[in-house]
Order: sequence, then C-alpha cells, then structure tokens
Amino acid sequence: MPKAKLSIEWLSGCSGCEVAFADLHEDLPKVLKDEVELVRLPILLDTKEYVSADIGMITGSIRTEHDIKAAHAMRESCETIIAFGTCPVYGGPHGGGYAHTTKELLDRSFIKNPTTRTTESPCHVPQLLDESRTLDSEIDVDIYMPGCPPHPAFIIEGLRGLLQGRVPKIGQQNVCAECSRNMEKTDITTIRRSYEVKFNSHLCFLSQGCLCFGSVALDRCRKAPCPTAGVPCFACGGPSMPVILEPQMDIWTLVAERMAHLTNIPKEDIINEIKKQAKTHYAYAMVSPIFRHKPTSLLRKWVQQSQNVEKGD
Ligand code: SF4
Ligand code: SF4
Ligand code: SF4
Repeated sequence: MPKAKLSIEWLSGCSGCEVAFADLHEDLPKVLKDEVELVRLPILLDTKEYVSADIGMITGSIRTEHDIKAAHAMRESCETIIAFGTCPVYGGPHGGGYAHTTKELLDRSFIKNPTTRTTESPCHVPQLLDESRTLDSEIDVDIYMPGCPPHPAFIIEGLRGLLQGRVPKIGQQNVCAECSRNMEKTDITTIRRSYEVKFNSHLCFLSQGCLCFGSVALDRCRKAPCPTAGVPCFACGGPSMPVILEPQMDIWTLVAERMAHLTNIPKEDIINEIKKQAKTHYAYAMVSPIFRHKPTSLLRKWVQQSQNVEKGD
C-alpha cells in the first residue's frame, strides 16, 4: 500500500509544535516507517516548495502576509488540512497582542527593545497584519488538533486515526480530570499569585486563592503537567468542550464561581483578578470567534482602545 504523503508548514508561532513533532522520538519512525512519507517539514527538511501531499499539517496562526500566502499554498497542495496546535485552532498566545497597537508591538519587540541592535540596512521581514487570526479565517480546515503543543500521544493517535479512516480515540476531558490536587473548601479570603507564597502541593490552587484554569481547559497535555509541577494552568490547550459548545458558558464566570465556592473570596474580586491577568490567562483562545463574542471578552474593548491610540484620542 502506498505511503500517505505528509507536508508540514509553520505560520506565526513559537516552533514548539514542530519540536513536539520531532519529539515523538522512536514513535515517529514507527508511524513514518510503513504509513507516512514526510515530504515537507521546515525544522528537519530543507524543502521550500509546496509538494503535493495527502495530509497537510499547519502550525502557527495567521499574523503576517506570508502566513496568508503559505496557508493558501498548503490548501492548494494538500488534500486534507490539519490545524495543528492551539495557534491555528484558536489563535494562540498572540491574542495578547490585541491589547496593543501594531506600532507598540513592533517598538517593544524590535525597534526600542534594549537587547535589539538596529542597523541601517533594509529589513526584509513579512508585513505584520493588523490582527491575529485563526487558520480557518483564511482557508478551509478539515481537522482541528489543539494543544500547545499537543502531547505526542494525541499526535500519534490523531495521525493513526486519519490514516486508518476512523475517528481518533481522544478524550474530551478537562485538565482537572488528570490533576491529583484536591478541591476542598477553605477559609481563604484573598487572592494570591503563584509566586507570592509556597502553596500546598496536594490542594487545588483554587482552594488556596490562586487562579487556575484547569477546569475550563481541554486536556491536550496529559497528567496536568503544570499544576503537578506547582504552576497553575493557564489553558494553553484551548477551552474545554462545554465552553466551546455553549455560547453563554464563559471561562471567567465558571472559574470565578468555582473559586468563590471553594474559598471565602468574593466573586467580584476574582473577576477583577482575571481581568488583570487577561493577557496571559485568556490569550490563548481569545482570537477565536468562539471567544470574541462571549459576554466577558475584553477583545472589543482592547481593539477600541488601540484604535483610539492610533487616532490620537
Ligand atoms: S500552539 Fe503553542 S507550541 Fe504550538 S506554535 Fe503555538 S505557541 Fe508554539
Ligand atoms: S483547578 Fe487546577 S489545581 Fe485545581 S484540580 Fe483543576 S487543574 Fe488541578
Ligand atoms: S497550561 Fe494547562 S493546558 Fe497548558 S500544558 Fe499546562 S496544564 Fe496543560
């Protein structure tokens, strides 16, 4: 039986998804050996052309003019397109950029960055778009595989399912389902951030007054690696299924209600803290249309503020 050709392209992202693919170690040849021929993978193969392929895997989000061209070239050359990682599926962490103007972003990253040396020579980098976008805002996507990056077990099962023409056996539970910390009622009255105190390693962060988004995050990382290592979950794998499916179900309100129930912290204080941390805790999915229309989305407010700055208001 002929091998399926797999072509991979990266748009704007951190390259963590490519590393995850390369990180499959001995599992990679297991899948590739008999079933898949890798025809394009920027991190491992020096192929610039868009070779025609059965499966096209795209990482990163639409952030530059180059991303638009690359996404269309992949769509034209591949039969099936997989949006691989939280970036193409929900926009990824670049969503936090909405809180700033394009000029502020460029100044901060390149022009006025103290560790960047500017030169007189012209800079040939792709033009930044005014906004960050999901992959399916530009081309049709056949399969969505969120995760930042997806755990190798999900990558292997996703690919195998696709090759065998079946639905992959991938659960839809949230991160809490894999977390060993216990949710218990406490008498905590104030919010604490993860770096401020030493937290009990057996107790849920929410019970200890520290924001954790595991209950509203889709488990694409397995075994809750961050809470297990002592760091609260910031939902990098994307939203849980109930949040995706129910328009009125919202990350903020769900987490605030749960934390208020587990502690003596007023719900309003929790919501205010979520707002303060919104650029990190909410960023991974806020670009997606699923989120920008949620009742508590800050995106419209940020876009309005940025437009006012640009107009000089
Ligand atoms: S999904 Fe995460 S790991 Fe993958 S490119 Fe985006 S930021 Fe990097
Ligand atoms: S909210 Fe966080 S710490 Fe608590 S059980 Fe869920 S993942 Fe674990
Ligand atoms: S932040 Fe949450 S969803 Fe992301 S890897 Fe850590 S535990 Fe998993």
